Amino acid sequence: TIELTDVHLSLGRGAARVHILRGVSLKIRQGEAVGLVGPSGSGKSTLLMTLAGLERPDTGTVRVADQDLGVLDEDGLARFRGRHIGIVFQSFHLVPTMTALENVAIPLELAGRPDAFERAEAELDVVGLGNRLSHYPAQLSGGEQQRVALARALAPDPRILVADEPTGNLDEATGAAIIETMFALKRERGATLVLVTHDMALAARCDRTVRIRSGHVESDTAAAAAAAE
Ligand code: ATP
Ligand code: MG
Repeated sequence: TIELTDVHLSLGRGAARVHILRGVSLKIRQGEAVGLVGPSGSGKSTLLMTLAGLERPDTGTVRVADQDLGVLDEDGLARFRGRHIGIVFQSFHLVPTMTALENVAIPLELAGRPDAFERAEAELDVVGLGNRLSHYPAQLSGGEQQRVALARALAPDPRILVADEPTGNLDEATGAAIIETMFALKRERGATLVLVTHDMALAARCDRTVRIRSGHVESDTAAAAAAAE
């Protein structure tokens, strides 16, 4: 379960300081797939980073798997993310000096997995990049980089996967394959999926759609369903 309670968050300094999240409360059950939608600049990526423990709220609380993230120091937070949360960033964040295989394997190795390289190779195979293991990010297309980022997020078998526009740069067939991979994690492992998307096919696959506008929850199909009961 992920639970945000009245979260406010500002980013930037001086004249560039922006009050982005303006009182977000949201509860996501373990195993649920949630599509986060809303206009550009509404705060979707910021919300995703906050519920993944990469941004700390100014006020309000974030609880993930019964852990209050606010009480963890930076090391504790990094360990918690490593154990529980897979993250696919909007701009991928691959390490430019590492090959595709190393980008996936090195974090596993740092987490102490003895089978890091075998596991990384298998995961890259799943996303269709078994023939690009030795390529560096600059030698990969945008969609291929996106798939490396997804393989890296999926490799530790996270209980929670958060992904920012995971199908944004992909053609329809590759996008559909990636969607299947993410939903297999939900189906077979009971993982929670939180997916920012403009892709209506992806939003439709989710159990629930949460629409963000100007830093708050404008609508939530779960709330609408509860009210109709
Ligand atoms: P998109 O669909 O375009 O990705 P988004 O909903 O993900 O948009 P965010 O990236 O969460 O939007 O940004 C929300 C707002 O916060 C934007 O107006 C952005 O300019 C501002 N913002 C984001 N990061 C910072 C920062 N580090 N400093 C100042 N302002 C920021
Ligand atoms: Mg964004």
